[in-house]
Amino acid sequence: MEAERALWADADERAAAYIASVGRRPAFPPREAVAALDALGGPLPDGPADPAATLDLLDDIGSRATVTSNGPNYFGFVVGALLPIAGAAERLALAWNQCASSAVNSPVMDAVERTAAGWLLEVLDLPREAGVGFGTSATACGLACLAAAQTCLLEKAGWDLQRKGLRAAPQVRIVVPDTVHVTVKKAIRLLGFGTDDIVVVPTDAYGRLDPALLPALDEMTILCLQAGEVNTGEFDRFAEIVPRAKAAGAWVHVDGAFGLWVRASRDLAQLAQGVELADSWTTDGHKTLNTPYDGAVAICRRADVLARTMNAEAVYAPSEPDAQKNLTLEFSRRARGLGFWAVLRTLGRSGVADLVDGYHRRAVAISDGCRPLGVEVLNRVVFNQVLCRLESPAATRALTEAVQSDGEVWFGQTVWRGEPAFRLSVSSWRTDDASVARVLAAIGRARSA
Ligand SMILES: *Cc1c(COP(=O)(O)O)cnc(C)c1O
Repeated sequence: MEAERALWADADERAAAYIASVGRRPAFPPREAVAALDALGGPLPDGPADPAATLDLLDDIGSRATVTSNGPNYFGFVVGALLPIAGAAERLALAWNQCASSAVNSPVMDAVERTAAGWLLEVLDLPREAGVGFGTSATACGLACLAAAQTCLLEKAGWDLQRKGLRAAPQVRIVVPDTVHVTVKKAIRLLGFGTDDIVVVPTDAYGRLDPALLPALDEMTILCLQAGEVNTGEFDRFAEIVPRAKAAGAWVHVDGAFGLWVRASRDLAQLAQGVELADSWTTDGHKTLNTPYDGAVAICRRADVLARTMNAEAVYAPSEPDAQKNLTLEFSRRARGLGFWAVLRTLGRSGVADLVDGYHRRAVAISDGCRPLGVEVLNRVVFNQVLCRLESPAATRALTEAVQSDGEVWFGQTVWRGEPAFRLSVSSWRTDDASVARVLAAIGRARSA
């Protein structure tokens, strides 16, 4: 008992020290720290060791080799930091170690996730009757939504997918923008679709699906749209497209991994106007909302269809039809809704709006600061992404590599319309005006070098 208490206390102290250091740490670990990771390997131990020594090794070798995405100076991918309350709630829940399959397994997590589901629908202003499954990622939750879409369309066509399977089923067609996220394509693949079943629609200069090029839709079509394109941060024109798709009988799914959260903002909500008319939505907690990795959500207007599609009832584990194990891929699971609950409970409506607006304000400041440095900003910065390039592909690549190898700040390379570019994403609550100045200084230094 004493040893266990001491071990947890030791971990807490180390965690607190790490958190206190994130502002000073390089955004990407130095080469020596990465090389030292070999010390975590070696032969499989023959027998037990002192747990305190294992923790010490992990902290000593591991902490130095972390990517400081939980700090203010990391602008890579769309990796969110961790809000203190979300981390603290998770820390307590780790001691509980609940298997949050259903109310039978964990009354407390069932209550937490039911509340989180209701608050989420309110803050995102989505249909209050929708089903909400908290899963590991937008990938997994997107898969759940698209599986529900497939079930529903086939059912309407008189095909019981559960019983008769996919092999001889009527053909369902999927329409996606050419900027569709790779994980949506992965989900589509896993559902048994081939590239022949996918219709790719060209996008406009901003990366949004071009409504003029949308093919005829029907009741056997799933249309995938985006709230937040990974390079430009742009939003498809939902108000124009979704009613058309719905009138044709299609199912509309929205990948809103990081962008759906503009719905919480007064000023930015109009970017996603009309998104509420869709049939299903996915968004992450671990990006914009800064909940712990890994946590995301599948939201489905037809709660009953999601629950039937993802059902995992077992004779030894009877539960409510809308228990979380019946809405997500996982059966045994951590309560991924906890982070959502903790953040929404603590920040409230206006706090989430401030978080989202803060990302946007700083992304605009980065964009404004890039231009005088001779950096071309390729997008409109409608939300939190800044897409840039220099006068030549070689110069663009060289700058990205120079900033990355310095490591004080970090952002990633990408490809936009076939040309190398680099991309900064503001997704950390810790990113402040000083971090904006720091990243601009790093770009300036690399530019003049
Ligand atoms: C990150 C991202 C995904 C995938 O989300 P995961 O949680 O990493 O699975 C999907 N779509 C977009 C637009 C993303 O940014």
